[in-house]
Amino acid sequence: MEGEDQAMTDAPNGIDESHVVPVTGRDTGDTSANNGMHVDTDDSDECDEDGLMRTMRRRGLLPTGCCYDDRMKLHANADFGPSPHHPEDPRRIEEIMEIFRKGGLVYTGYDSNLNEILQDNPTKYMWRIPARPATKQEICTVHTPRHYDWVQNLSEMSTRDLRVLSHSLDQGRASLYVGGMSYEAALLAAGGAVETCKNVAAGKVKNAFAIIRPPGHHAEYDTPMGFCLFNNVPIAAKVCQNEYPDTCRKILILDWDVHHGNGVQNMFYEDPNILYISLHVYANGDFYPGKPDNPMIPDGDIDKVGEGPGRGKNVNIAWPSQGMGDGEYLAAFQKIVMPIAHEFNPDMVIISAGFDAADGDELGGCFVTPPCYAHMTHMLMSLAGGKVAVCLEGGYNLKAISHSALAVGRTLMGEPPPKMEIPPINKEAAKLLVKVQASQAPYWECMRPGIIDVRELGDKTSRLHDVIRGYQRQLLSEKYSMIPLFIQREVLYKSFENQVLITPGLQAKRKIMFIIHDPPELKVMPDLVDNTVDPHNGFIMDGVLSYIDWAHKNDFGILDVNIPHYITHTEDLDAHTPRADEKTLQRQIQELVCYIWDNYLQLYDVDDLFLVGVGNAYLGVKVLLTNRDCKGRIAGVVNFVTGNLRPVKSETDTELSSWYKQNSLVYVTNDHACWGDADLAKKVVKKRFGGVQRSPQVGLNRMMEAHAKEVYQFIDGRVEQGNSGNTTEEEK
Ligand code: ZN
Repeated sequence: MEGEDQAMTDAPNGIDESHVVPVTGRDTGDTSANNGMHVDTDDSDECDEDGLMRTMRRRGLLPTGCCYDDRMKLHANADFGPSPHHPEDPRRIEEIMEIFRKGGLVYTGYDSNLNEILQDNPTKYMWRIPARPATKQEICTVHTPRHYDWVQNLSEMSTRDLRVLSHSLDQGRASLYVGGMSYEAALLAAGGAVETCKNVAAGKVKNAFAIIRPPGHHAEYDTPMGFCLFNNVPIAAKVCQNEYPDTCRKILILDWDVHHGNGVQNMFYEDPNILYISLHVYANGDFYPGKPDNPMIPDGDIDKVGEGPGRGKNVNIAWPSQGMGDGEYLAAFQKIVMPIAHEFNPDMVIISAGFDAADGDELGGCFVTPPCYAHMTHMLMSLAGGKVAVCLEGGYNLKAISHSALAVGRTLMGEPPPKMEIPPINKEAAKLLVKVQASQAPYWECMRPGIIDVRELGDKTSRLHDVIRGYQRQLLSEKYSMIPLFIQREVLYKSFENQVLITPGLQAKRKIMFIIHDPPELKVMPDLVDNTVDPHNGFIMDGVLSYIDWAHKNDFGILDVNIPHYITHTEDLDAHTPRADEKTLQRQIQELVCYIWDNYLQLYDVDDLFLVGVGNAYLGVKVLLTNRDCKGRIAGVVNFVTGNLRPVKSETDTELSSWYKQNSLVYVTNDHACWGDADLAKKVVKKRFGGVQRSPQVGLNRMMEAHAKEVYQFIDGRVEQGNSGNTTEEEK
């Protein structure tokens, strides 16, 4: 590297920085004079740039710009010597330039006919935007002078001191290395971003790609961070706003780097004219950069929407985990990014283009493909009259970043994005997008349809599941004189008020049916315009009622337990609350069914006790069988399953699984995932899942209707046998 210093510092000499000229990348092997990034200013090719530019603009043909400078490779890690084993590797930018050459995006020959080629086809090649060092004044539009001085001072330090500093900085959140040329490279990266964005803003190029490093988006106003020294994109955005106040007032910064651009967010957190949208892995703050030490500083979570006049101008699409890919990114673009971006209506778009969400990048662990990057670029090109400036951020797999960058470059140059198949979206990601929509709804008209503000509904508001259970209670009371079971524990009672209903005289019954079920299924057709639901367009399906009716006619005592998908509290204000997670559900159900067993059923002198589990609530059957030694008192089990299949087994009672298999009917919906997978289908016949049967029907109510006769026969047969304890023996 050392021998190249001189030549490289000379590279852009004699070029008017405001000019855009064709990129004439020669063979990368030829690094002695120009490092493959020679700007052809030789008069002999008679290329009249100004004349050509004028002609092209008149014809509405503007080229795509490209900014690259080999000197940005000089930022290297002093701690590791000349061959840095660090993901933020100088070869990152070289590889992108190389693939642009190979792909024919930049001019690679010594063709004496270049002028003619360009006359015929002026946008055939990317045009070069020379990088130059950013000025202190430009950098201090977003950084403190102290921070500038700190970076500048790196060029004064001895190699030994730099090594020590690198070593100390390479820890925790700082995650940074520095070298003797880091300052120069950082100035060029920032200056390259500034020139690239200025050329786009001024309409000198149609759009442009800045192949720059070190990256910028983690750098805070007063400190470097996460491989970043100066925050290139915000500097460029500020300079453009200052220099073109009338034509470049509102800027969208779209950050698809897999990490949250904390620096960009915080620099513009109160700025109404910069809309920052970031798609990144958040993982509850466990993914870099994570949560700041100071809890007052906002992190990358979805509730960080900006402050003061900047409220709503910060959009964090914070993935719950790694593993996201084309389906999730395109859905995010269609549902959140593009609607908000169109409503914002920017004068220019800057893409903070990290390629570490790309398929193949181990650090990011996501699967975005080059065609998906092309489509995202293409969508963004529909904004701001096509004024899009792409600035490289992260991305550490050389193959992945170069192929992704190539797809973006081709799209910028006007190639239609390639055909692609969109995989189905991950469920957790889909939920996340709904939450982002809800958190942005107060600030964007386009995010509002379908989002309810519970606070605005007033005091006369009830949740539908309370109304439905109230109605069920009344119905069961009228028809079968059912009454709420007295539950002594205060917390339990509040959670399950109205949820446990029994027929009178339960303790004296010879036969009892204990039904643990989900709330009835609801289907509604909302108004497509305002999303309201007229009651006549809503349908409720309650398959449990006919079973209760049968049990009542056959002189069973009935214990009916409704398990809400989520137990609501008066302080809940979210219009959309997800169902309780498995752990919470298990805890609540276990507490309730064990309480009922310990305080009631266990004490009864009942001959035939049947358990019926419906839907997710069939978890209650499992927790009762596994937590209480009760199988000897149970005559049979019937379950209807659409969700998780739950094993019933016990460490202490090795007979439990066989007993369950022989004394249960477990109907599983015909469209259950277990039937589609040979391995899973093999598993479900194992005894711990009970007497599993694939129902020809789909859904709880259809199954309950279709199998009612079989179930009644199953129960009748067991009642006739008398004591259930013998059943196992007889069946053997
Ligand atoms: Zn990154």
